Amino acid sequence: MANDDHAQLRKQAERDGIEFFFAMFVDMHGKPCAKLVPAASFDTLMEEGAGFAGFAAGPMGQTPADPDMMAIPDPASYTPVPFRPGLAVLHCDIHVEGEPWSYAPRLILKRQLARLADRGMIFNCGAEVEYFLVRRTGEGGIQPADPLDTAAQPCYDAKGLTRMYDHLTTVSTYLNRLGWANYANDHEDANGQFEQNFTYADALTTADRVIFFRYMVHTLAQEAGLAATFMPKPFAHLTGNGMHVHTSLWDDGGEPLFHDTDDSRGLGLSALAYQFIAGILEHAPGLVALTAPTVNSYKRIGVGPPASGATWAPAYATYGGNNRTQLLRVPEAGRVEHRGVDGSANPYLALTGILAAGLDGIDRGLDPGDPNRDNLFALTPEAVAARGIGTVPQTLVAAVDSLARDDVLRTALGEVPGGWYADYYIETKRAEFREYHQAVSAWEIEKYLTLF
Ligand code: GLU
Ligand code: MG
Repeated sequence: MANDDHAQLRKQAERDGIEFFFAMFVDMHGKPCAKLVPAASFDTLMEEGAGFAGFAAGPMGQTPADPDMMAIPDPASYTPVPFRPGLAVLHCDIHVEGEPWSYAPRLILKRQLARLADRGMIFNCGAEVEYFLVRRTGEGGIQPADPLDTAAQPCYDAKGLTRMYDHLTTVSTYLNRLGWANYANDHEDANGQFEQNFTYADALTTADRVIFFRYMVHTLAQEAGLAATFMPKPFAHLTGNGMHVHTSLWDDGGEPLFHDTDDSRGLGLSALAYQFIAGILEHAPGLVALTAPTVNSYKRIGVGPPASGATWAPAYATYGGNNRTQLLRVPEAGRVEHRGVDGSANPYLALTGILAAGLDGIDRGLDPGDPNRDNLFALTPEAVAARGIGTVPQTLVAAVDSLARDDVLRTALGEVPGGWYADYYIETKRAEFREYHQAVSAWEIEKYLTLF
């Protein structure tokens, strides 16, 4: 079976004129790592994998004393690189001494998807990846790459879109060449911010595509002398980078399971979809550690009236209809958008958490109650609290504390040699928070220098 896949892939690659492969995997942060392997070594690559010193790559559960991580390509993930003819990316699964390496995010998602496959179900996801195009300023700051992009309300601005036409259409052309069906490209709500959409697919494919998309946009921007950033909040006064994920469960015969035209709540959702929603809301405090995994994430998820009209980012654990102030939005019948995921999320880990939380809601037959119809951005935190609505954690450290208490999410992230991946994740993120906290910011100097 594997040999058939390999032979087919070799033929496909030959037809595409592929001379080199990137054997790619990501670490906990979602950073793409790769080795460049010439086509002449294709057979060895497919059978034995490409070797990496895991400790050098990032948080992969390895020390310098550990044996090689072998990145074994998934033939189904073959992606010719449109801007480097002759190169193709293969997303890989990490093995150590012949065994799957439980610290590998892609394998963590695959394990969760296998749980779903046992129930005869498929998890489909579409990701809305937002990003800024910026330039670095001399003083270590950044500014939008387009100096004319200064409008107070730049969203959908046709002129701004035109000024970035070359970059945006290049990305669009490449997405379509890959067969990902790019269907829209827009100027988002912040100066310098864009979104380019590709069609949904099964969760693993979408997670692989997010990694490739970010890699491609970074590379193209760099080649144009710019920087792309997916960080959640590059500018304090502007809306941040979301990576909203549209989710739905299907049976393995291709029938949608979230759709029900007789829904008495009027959203076109099935009982199963409501249970899934309820699971995500119940696990929202711990889940946010996976969907918003950086210090910077919590500058996007702000409680209280936002400084710039609307952050568009959810601060409260609620769901609603076509209402962008909710954590979970139901834009149309049959699917649920998770708006809590941001541009720094590792898509494998975020989707693992969303699925595990949703499945817990299904297993326990939870009900989320009626949809919230408020404009939550217009309410004070006190008014929201008076309605009994929960707030998602407001710092990375609070989020990982919640994850530490969430046994469903801990179990979903799985066991690793000597413990649980969740504990490794939490420890890594606490260290990241401490590192951030040790820096003295310009805000502190301004606030405290001569106050006392
Ligand atoms: N940029 C917003 C966010 O951080 C999302 C805007 C939109 O709804 O597209 O989530
Ligand atoms: Mg958007």
